[in-house]
Amino acid sequence: MQLTKQQIDYCMECGVCTGSCPISYDRPGFSPRQMIKRTLVEPDGDILQSSDIWACLSCSRCSDRCPVGIDFPEFIRTYREKATAAANLPRESHHGVFQTLTSLQATNLNQNRIGWTEGMKIQEEGEYFFFVGCLPYQDVVFRYLDLQMIDTAKSILTLLNKLGIEPVVSNDEKCCGHDAFWSGNKELFATLARHNVEMIKQSGAKTVIFSCPEGYSIFRESYPDIVGKLPFEILHISEFLAQKLPESDITFGQSGNGKVTYHDPCRLGRRTGIYEEPRQLLGLVPDSDFREMENNRENAVCCGTTAWMECSSCSKTMQIKRLQEAERVGATTIITACPKCQIHLSCAKSNTDIDVEVKDLYAYLSENI
Ligand code: SF4
Ligand code: SF4
Repeated sequence: MQLTKQQIDYCMECGVCTGSCPISYDRPGFSPRQMIKRTLVEPDGDILQSSDIWACLSCSRCSDRCPVGIDFPEFIRTYREKATAAANLPRESHHGVFQTLTSLQATNLNQNRIGWTEGMKIQEEGEYFFFVGCLPYQDVVFRYLDLQMIDTAKSILTLLNKLGIEPVVSNDEKCCGHDAFWSGNKELFATLARHNVEMIKQSGAKTVIFSCPEGYSIFRESYPDIVGKLPFEILHISEFLAQKLPESDITFGQSGNGKVTYHDPCRLGRRTGIYEEPRQLLGLVPDSDFREMENNRENAVCCGTTAWMECSSCSKTMQIKRLQEAERVGATTIITACPKCQIHLSCAKSNTDIDVEVKDLYAYLSENI
């Protein structure tokens, strides 16, 4: 990533990113600006051996505020490619199970990804493709947190079926490659991207609907660099439902969840600009007592880890602070539209006595139909 002279001159006097970064708050010495400076002094120097390279959440809170448009997440991503080549690797969370699953999906592995659809309406070919993402795998891994992650997929398919839509759900879907991309493994990412686009093309789908913000953002931002213009439209399910539900005959009853607040996932908010649609969907449930947290929309704070790596005390501090923020506005339920946010916040909550339920947006909607 090349910076202009004007960007560099401004950057050396600034520091907005460090003041905005949730990692800088809790990790001594971590400063995006200082990392840029280090690479200007010595482009491929000791930074390639630094663990700071892996600590960044690529959450875009800094780049969103940078006065001269420096894309720090992209900067750090390119350095991750170089760090990997220099044998500086991240600490993988959950014993590396998700990194292994991603690599396995780049092979000819036969998957059973669609067992959960039994009794629901899906097709092998059709206009709409529902890209389910990692939910079937997360469902198995996170049972110990009392989570049933596949319920998100079931809730979305329930809503789609009620709208009269029978989407394609495929056993041949593979990991979207988001985490491989942000971990600096572009080759693995490209393999997965090519496979997914070809597989969707063969289904005849004109519109692909994503439940996961990461899948949606990576298709939107990075797939075109590998495969060119996408041969189908892509939509996040919150956009799709915000268009379709108000004009449908589906109605919602009163929620039993009390006072609710919404946690903006970084990939859905800052990276793809979807802030209002999830709030519109929450507003469909009558008498829902919605409370906005102090850090909302573009100021929202990340759920604490990304790409299943570097989960640390810093991550836990961020997660607990976020739950406490929900508590402070009197919310009894924190709703999110990202499976990873749901997992991370639930994990942090399980070690505290914070009395805030963590809930997925689509489960909340489908439970209240
Ligand atoms: S906000 Fe932008 S200009 Fe300011 S220090 Fe950070 S990267 Fe440099
Ligand atoms: S992307 Fe997020 S975690 Fe990384 S330096 Fe910027 S604000 Fe900090």
